[in-house]
Parts: sequence; C-alpha cells; structure tokens
Amino acid sequence: MKKLSQITETFSESVIREMTRICDEAGGYNLSQGFPDFESPKAIQEAAIRAIQAGFNQYPVTFGEPELREAISRKVREYNHIECNPKTDITVTCGATEAMIATLKALINPGDEIIIFEPFYENYGPDSILSGATPRYVTLYGPDWHYSAAELAAAFNEKTKAIIINTPNNPTGKVFSKEELAEIAALCIKWDTYAIADEIYEHILYDGARHVSIASLPGMAERTITINSISKTYSVTGWRVGWAIAAPEITKRIRKVHDFFTVGAPTPLQHAAAEAMTYGPEYYEGLKNHYGEARDFVLGALRQAGFKCELPQGAYYVLTDASDIMARLGITDDTAFSRKLIELTGVATVPGSSFYADKTKGSRQVRFCFCKKWETLKHVAQVLTKLPR
Ligand code: GLN
Repeated sequence: MKKLSQITETFSESVIREMTRICDEAGGYNLSQGFPDFESPKAIQEAAIRAIQAGFNQYPVTFGEPELREAISRKVREYNHIECNPKTDITVTCGATEAMIATLKALINPGDEIIIFEPFYENYGPDSILSGATPRYVTLYGPDWHYSAAELAAAFNEKTKAIIINTPNNPTGKVFSKEELAEIAALCIKWDTYAIADEIYEHILYDGARHVSIASLPGMAERTITINSISKTYSVTGWRVGWAIAAPEITKRIRKVHDFFTVGAPTPLQHAAAEAMTYGPEYYEGLKNHYGEARDFVLGALRQAGFKCELPQGAYYVLTDASDIMARLGITDDTAFSRKLIELTGVATVPGSSFYADKTKGSRQVRFCFCKKWETLKHVAQVLTKLPR
C-alpha cells in the first residue's frame, strides 16, 4: 500500500481527548477535558428546540446566520470594544477549533513563522503543522506565568506572520494585562505581524482580573483575528458554534476556507446562540462565581494532596507541579503519572507534556480542570486523600 500523508504522520492524537476516553472506560472523574458535567442553561436548550421546531434545519448562510452575526457584533462592541460589521467582518465556524485552523489556512505561506506562548493549548501544535507554519515558542514562566520581554522581542523577525494570544490562557490561567498586550501590539505593528486572539474564556475571570482584547488597542483592529465560541460561556461545548472576527479582506479568505472545510455550523444552534448572547450581566456573574468557588475548593484539595499550584486568574484549569507525589510513587514521567492517578483515585488529568513542544518541560506537570459540579468536585477532593503523603 502507498504511504499515508507525511503531514498527518508528524503529530499524535489529542492527549486531552484520549484522556477522556480512558476516563470514560474507567468510569472515573474527568478533570482532563475542559467541559462542564452540569446542565447547560435551560433557556439556551429551549431556544435550540424552538429553532429546530421553527424549521431552521437546513444549511445556514455559510459564513453565519445574520441574527447570530448581528448578536456577535453587538456583544463585541459592548464587551470587547471592537467595532465589527456583521456583513463583512465575521465568519461563524464549527467551534473556535475550526476558526483557528481556518484562520491559519487563510494567512500562512510556506516558510512563515508563528509565535506561540508555551505552555500552549494542545491544538496549536497540529494547527501549525496543518497550516505549514513554523512555530516559535516564547516561554511563560511559572508560578505567575510571565514572559521575558527580551525573549518575546527576539522571537519576531521578517518571517513572523502571526502571534497567537490565548487570554485568559489555557492551561496556565494567565490573564494577559493591558500593558503586556500593548507590548505585543507594538511588536506586531513593528514587524507587520497579525495577532490571532483566542478569547474563548473571556468571561471566566477571578479576583477582579479584567479581560482586554488586543483588537481594541490602537492600530490593531485591522491586523487582529479575534476567535471565540459559545462553548465555554454557555456550557455547550458539544454544539460546535464559534467565530472569527477580522477585517473584510482577511474575513473573505477565512470564509473561503471555512466554506470548503465545513459549509457551516449547525443552523438551529446558531439561532439559539444568538438568543443566549442577549442574557443580562447576572448570567455572567453566576458563571464567574461558580467557577471562582470551584477554583478555591479544588486548589485547596490539590495542595492538601501535595500538588504545587498557584491560583489561576482566569479560565478553568490549573497546571500543577506534581514532582513531590511522583517522587513518592517512584514515577518519573507525567503520562505514567496520569495513568497511575486514574488507577489509584479515578481522577483523570492531562499530562503536562501535551502543552509543550519540548516534552521534557512538562514531564513533572499535570493539568486539572475544575468546570465540574459540586458533587464531582467533592468526590475528587475525597479520593485525592488516597494518595501517599
Ligand atoms: N479546550 C478544552 C481543553 O483544553 C478541550 C477542547 C476540545 O477538546 N476540543 O480541555
């Protein structure tokens, strides 16, 4: 038989999704893949049912139903201070995942470089390979996940096509400050580089942290692609409704890629999404408060069990240093440790190495997500006490 594609040979399956499969087989507690195990809001479920019954069951407008694009445009003007024309500046996609790969496919030529902060969300690695971009990594240093301004500046050159900024950040919980984003923006302008902002956790913030969209900074609207989705904000990760916002010339390219990739995101769910985007501030406060309490509770349990970790400022993950427990168990790598943890406690995590290009950097880390109901979190706190002290 002829050999399969060389490109797809160079990356492995998603470790995050694999951990979910292992966890389901073991009947464990899934603190690996970032999705809620509680119900999505009743109102959004009912809106979807109404949309199906109202007959929104055929292909959508390929780049997004007009109602949803208008709702997105209103929302980003208010919350993100981004002006965007729903007719020319928005592409609705199958989740933020498709928005990211469609954006990279729209921008990248062979030989182009993209800058990625490391640790990074797993998908950005294969995304670079699939788009043909050469990634350059800029380290985020724990425990506060700062970057070095000198290292960031040194990563830019004539070949730099884009920088990916994920804020609030998965897996670190870092929320990029306005000053940091201004520094990144200045480098983007200096080197004529696009900014790709993945802002999917924009409503999940703690301790007064504020979300700033890099597209709202002077000179950045025309060179930023802002990516988002309803998955995390409305707890509907299985619906696959996301979008990319960009200036018309960039949007035209993203729309072409999107059309041939997937044609469109599910029509009735786009209508329900448009309705969800009219929820008042109390909805977002409720979400933030639940996750804030969950964060404090889970971090307490993890520290008690011997994991080293700092309070994340946003998103719903904590990347922990597991060295002490690994030493007690005589385990030297993160993947073996994750498997042992499921065996001993039933708790599934994501091995730290899946967030690094240089796998050794994550070999003492594991990521827990805490977007779970109280019942799950309390069970987890209890079973973690089984670990050797
Ligand atoms: N963002 C989620 C995580 O990091 C997973 C998203 C996905 O699996 N598509 O766990």
